[in-house]
Amino acid sequence: NSDLILYVNLELVNKKSDRRYIVEEMLGQGTFGQVAKCWDAETNSYVAVKVIKNQPAFYQQAIMEVSLLSMLNDKFDPDDQHHIVRMLDFFPWKNHLCITFEMLGHNLYELLKKNNLRGLQLQFVRTFSRQILDALIVMKGAGIIHCDLKPENILITPKVNSAAGVKVIDFGSACMEGKTIYSYIQSRYYRSPEVLLGYPYTTAIDMWSFGCIVAELYIGLPLFPGASEYDVLSRMIEMVGGQPPDDLLREAKNTRKFFKHAGSIYPGNEAHDGLRSSYRILTEDEVEARDSKKPKIGKWYFPRGRLDRLIFSYPWKNLNEEAEKEDCLALVDFLRGLVEFDPNKRWSPLQAS
Ligand code: ATP
Ligand code: MG
Ligand code: MG
Repeated sequence: NSDLILYVNLELVNKKSDRRYIVEEMLGQGTFGQVAKCWDAETNSYVAVKVIKNQPAFYQQAIMEVSLLSMLNDKFDPDDQHHIVRMLDFFPWKNHLCITFEMLGHNLYELLKKNNLRGLQLQFVRTFSRQILDALIVMKGAGIIHCDLKPENILITPKVNSAAGVKVIDFGSACMEGKTIYSYIQSRYYRSPEVLLGYPYTTAIDMWSFGCIVAELYIGLPLFPGASEYDVLSRMIEMVGGQPPDDLLREAKNTRKFFKHAGSIYPGNEAHDGLRSSYRILTEDEVEARDSKKPKIGKWYFPRGRLDRLIFSYPWKNLNEEAEKEDCLALVDFLRGLVEFDPNKRWSPLQAS
């Protein structure tokens, strides 16, 4: 990878015939390639250039990124009002596809780290959430599923009239609703129950990730920092209460990885909406016996427990005033609509706004 960085630097700087983009620094690396801050000598401005790895699968997906994002930019957000990154150009370069974007600021994970992972003030949580939701409304209207919403893929925008703002980036995993191809999508902490379970998915999976992000912005740590998919799912069940509805469990491909079917209604099992379920989640011992290895414990110390307790008792916040407690109640309510196991009952972007 460091070879590639050097390669990119030398080549882009030294290309005699086309000196348009001059690499200044590396901004980030992802699975798909590298992103560099470049000086655009033609427009005299900074741009972010994403250099996609030169392998066919990445190229195909990058073509998808270009086509979905240009559709979003041009058709659904022509006036750049909906907090979606602007794509400026794309060009092939030495077997690499390169995509240029407007230059944005730090991503939200970097912002949380700067704040010692103690979470943001509610005022910022609210502003950023509204803006992400605005982007999600447009994406749903366009029938686009982002498939990789997470703090690393939401960037701070340069200050306009000193108002804080964010934009959604990285459509490198996105797809059209109804034309879903991949089943292994979303980053693990932000992965929705239906994707974990291998059930057909819709734009509702982005709303699950959005809920995880809103909670993380407030508490400073991921809501479901599971070391394995089982760990993520068991944290969801513990945190939210209930579990995915029975018809989803019956039809999903991976149910047996996580749940035991009891044949009849499993006694005492509080399932979705308080209905009794015929499934129960496997115990850690059962998973261990099956995998002959214990699920690793998440690397963060994290208060496991119920969502409302987490939001209210989080140590960095001091909730002295009644108004702040009411804000917390409203936040828990909001999160409950989003981290809802049943994709059909989960709030849509419009319902949440
Ligand atoms: P992933 O592994 O999440 O799929 P990726 O390879 O698809 O990543 P991006 O998410 O598009 O790449 O970009 C990687 C990182 O580069 C981002 O998290 C962000 O920190 C930085 N970055 C990307 N685009 C920009 C931009 N327009 N302005 C500033 N920084 C950017
Ligand atoms: Mg990314
Ligand atoms: Mg990506």
